[in-house]
Amino acid sequence: MNVTHEPPVKKILYWCDRCNVPLIGRTCACGADGREIELLQPYDVRPALAADMALIKNLIRERFGNVPVQTVLLLNKTGGVDRADLVIAHGHRFGWLSFDPVTRKYSFDLSPEALPYILKHITTGILDLETGIEHGQGQGRMGGKKFRLKTPHPDGTAIVKLKNRFGTGTVRDGQVRVRELAPVEPRTGKNPDWAQVVQQNRYHLKNLERNAVRMIRQHVHDRPVCNVSFSGGKDSTAVLTLAKKAGVTDAFFLDTGIEFPETVAFVRSQGVPVIEKAGDFFAAAEKAGPPGKDNRWCCKLLKLRPLKLHLAEVGPCVTVQGNRWYESWNRASLEETSQNPANPLQLNISPIRNWRALEVFLYLWWQKAEINPLYERGIERIGCYVCPSMLESEYEDLRAMHPDYARRWDAFLSAYAKKRGLPDAFHRWGLWRWKALPPKMRELCRDRGIPVRDDYTLQAEPPAGREETVEIAGEITMEPDMAAQEPGGYDVDAIRRDFPILADIIYLDNAATSFSPEPVIAAMVEFEHRYRANVGRGVHRLTSIASHRYWHAHEKVAEFIGGKNGVTVFTKNTTESVNMVAQGLVWKTGDRVITTILEHHSNLLPWRRLARQGVATDSIGISPDYTLDLAALERAITESTRLVAVTQASNVLGVVTPVREIARICHGRGVLLLVDGAQAVPHLPVDVEELGCDFYCFSGHKMAGPTGTGVLWMKEPCIEPLVLGGGMVETVTADGYTPAQGYQQYEAGTPNIAGGIGLGVAVDYLQAIGMDRIHRYETDLTSRLIEMLSKNDRVRVYAPKDPAHRIGVVSFTVDGFHPHEVAQQIDEAADIMVRSGHHCCQPLVESLGLPGGTVRASLAFYNTRQEIDLLVATLDELTR
Ligand code: PMP
Repeated sequence: MNVTHEPPVKKILYWCDRCNVPLIGRTCACGADGREIELLQPYDVRPALAADMALIKNLIRERFGNVPVQTVLLLNKTGGVDRADLVIAHGHRFGWLSFDPVTRKYSFDLSPEALPYILKHITTGILDLETGIEHGQGQGRMGGKKFRLKTPHPDGTAIVKLKNRFGTGTVRDGQVRVRELAPVEPRTGKNPDWAQVVQQNRYHLKNLERNAVRMIRQHVHDRPVCNVSFSGGKDSTAVLTLAKKAGVTDAFFLDTGIEFPETVAFVRSQGVPVIEKAGDFFAAAEKAGPPGKDNRWCCKLLKLRPLKLHLAEVGPCVTVQGNRWYESWNRASLEETSQNPANPLQLNISPIRNWRALEVFLYLWWQKAEINPLYERGIERIGCYVCPSMLESEYEDLRAMHPDYARRWDAFLSAYAKKRGLPDAFHRWGLWRWKALPPKMRELCRDRGIPVRDDYTLQAEPPAGREETVEIAGEITMEPDMAAQEPGGYDVDAIRRDFPILADIIYLDNAATSFSPEPVIAAMVEFEHRYRANVGRGVHRLTSIASHRYWHAHEKVAEFIGGKNGVTVFTKNTTESVNMVAQGLVWKTGDRVITTILEHHSNLLPWRRLARQGVATDSIGISPDYTLDLAALERAITESTRLVAVTQASNVLGVVTPVREIARICHGRGVLLLVDGAQAVPHLPVDVEELGCDFYCFSGHKMAGPTGTGVLWMKEPCIEPLVLGGGMVETVTADGYTPAQGYQQYEAGTPNIAGGIGLGVAVDYLQAIGMDRIHRYETDLTSRLIEMLSKNDRVRVYAPKDPAHRIGVVSFTVDGFHPHEVAQQIDEAADIMVRSGHHCCQPLVESLGLPGGTVRASLAFYNTRQEIDLLVATLDELTR
């Protein structure tokens, strides 16, 4: 069931014209009914505080002289390039306050509705259209038209008059655009202060408080402990006040390490314990680059992980938090209680989720609660001072307030941009705040001639094709962007759009199983929705569609591995494929099988089991550089050797084995060769005929295909089918049967039809990108990973040196940590998924002297450099 509901957000506000105050409910304490005022999305109206008032007054004074401004002004945030607020006075639109991130200046555009209140006070800045515009223009209707000015007038908002009619206009480049002209009836209104606003709203505030306190009381005992998550901002101050009334006294503040000092001082003044468990933001940024609104790696490092560590000490708890619907779209669906999937210990309750900022401030003023002083100083978003969600206008305030803090971040940003050849605007206009620029920013770039790439990232200068590597802060080298390097561009961002699951996690366990792109999933859903039927049986329409597509998937897979001349059988996985060969060949006592120390248990145990039939297994070792000892393999082959079973790429060390040479040796000695291609097919172009093997086994689920899919390719169908039954026979007589030809004889029973069809689509998908390109891309990522990991002297990497001998599977250990501990901690810290342990290769990890196994990061074609950098940064943090 798909239930999408909009929360009952309040899109209007009320105004008591008698008292001239805003009302959060319909009626005023004076008894009058309020007038409805429509708000603008996201409807989070708030009071103008000291710095806002000073700013607005100054901007008005600069243009129009000493005009009195109401004490009670409201700000309604609206969509803009940066800060953009509708200013409300007297319950009417008064003007628009906005900040231009390019000129770094504020402007105030007066609204025509302000004129009745201010006109009589205006001493300057009125443009008389009768005398001020060039002759012959002022005819007929003037609203919406542009006129050339006779004398220069500063650009920006203007009041225009024509005889007894007034209006507003905008001056630009010696012309004025007139909005509308009308007679203005002067008006006055009371000028109450905020204390009066609180008074007139006291019944509504009482109501809000009662409901919120009741909600907290309802949930206080849902878990053994109840606390308040305090951020130092207004919302959590309100929640702290409410929670205290509900009898909750515990609170905590997670210090991200990049907090405004005023916030930390305020938190301490409130007696709230400060938890200092955050990672080092600046060290991580050196590696991962600046965070973005669409790339919030910082939250994991600075908030989620510290929270997890804190909760591990606190145990199961109810946490009262100050999240509100109006803050952002992803909070708009917030329920009364919510279970954070990342922190199952914690049940969050949001008692003020339906409050707007106005309600919050009024409540705090009513309660005479102390409020973080930053609000009065113009900072609306309390939190990290380098947060990508901050406005550039606020960042400008930081520069004035804490020049030393801003200087550090400015230096980082400008060095980062310079090293990558990014335009100045990346730093100066705050474009670093997005990885992919949103429409407004793209428009800004287009207007100012800043090139933006197709994936909406900023274009580096000089564009594509640079060879040099660049250094950041003298520590880490980073190559120019991959998309710029690859001929035709390897558009990893476009690929990632097909894998929505990647949005929230960093998945580096692809050797275990990889994700399927949307087209694969769509193909499986299509099978279910449109033509689900059995295959190879019957003649009706659905079965013939299903049979054809399932057969076609075999063809596509065969072609993908260059195996059209052999038999391509769909299995469950590599393990089943190997077992089918081990059990399907006819053995005689004394036969021998050669495997290697690199083998996965799946390419070891099926052969070991043959010991019962008198078939012994020999194992070949590796050289100190982790490559297979080919000479030893050649020596080990005797007259009795029937088969060599070898992996093409190790799932622990990433080392690639010389399969072609092994095939040459085997064939010269009349020995069969089985290759385990589970880790090769997803990463390398594979051609089984060129390799010269007899059997090739691999898994569909490791190469973007569905789970439950695998493949056994055979040069000749020389094995006995393991399973007999329906679907695998040509004819069955009273006392015998004739098996079907081709793959069918090895696929008895109803197969995984949707999976097989999905696997065919996965192959199409990989082919569309190109296995050569995937290989080159992953080789680059792997080298980067190994290089960066090797710089940490507490990390040991087990990988062949030569990039030509390895795939993107990288094992390492971290001194002082068990591999499981590392995997768990980096998951908790940064949502990074890696495998730990012996990886079903116990003989190998033990031969390496690592009984606890290794940590293994295994890459896929959809991983990014940034993910690698974040893994390294998280490990550096762990070992610091
Ligand atoms: N061989 C290798 C080299 C592998 O990496 C794996 C999976 N880790 C397997 C075999 C077994 O694959 P499956 O679980 O799909 O049978």
